[in-house]
Amino acid sequence: MEECIFCKIIKGEIPSEKIYEDDMVLSFKDIEPAAPVHVLIIPKKHIGSINDLTEDDSKIIAHIYLVAKQIAAKLGIDEKGYRIVTNCGEEAGQTVHHVHFHLLGGRSFAWPPG
Ligand code: 5GP
Ligand code: ZN
Repeated sequence: MEECIFCKIIKGEIPSEKIYEDDMVLSFKDIEPAAPVHVLIIPKKHIGSINDLTEDDSKIIAHIYLVAKQIAAKLGIDEKGYRIVTNCGEEAGQTVHHVHFHLLGGRSFAWPPG
């Protein structure tokens, strides 16, 4: 996926403020934070959106939640609470077509989301 901005971040072609990395996932600070803590967690495998997930991706997705939990603890938002959001498609506001999980915390969030 040559033109994918998140694949370029994974390859180091675009700089990012890394929070966590292993063989399956990368996490880095969102460039336009919507909360005091706003990091993205992405699979290293290019997957366009939740709509493109297959059974083969189950391990990656489960792993992302475990990584999110660890990052939340590391950044000190695990006790007060946080939100994990994945936008899928136009009406949800997905702007980058490489599946990603927003980990947001450090303030209160409204429900339902806008
Ligand atoms: P979406 O709107 O697709 O759910 O989320 C995409 C997110 O990626 C946005 O919150 C946006 O700020 C973030 N983003 C877009 N381009 C870059 C970039 O080059 N670097 C970083 N760190 N975040 C980015
Ligand atoms: Zn990609």
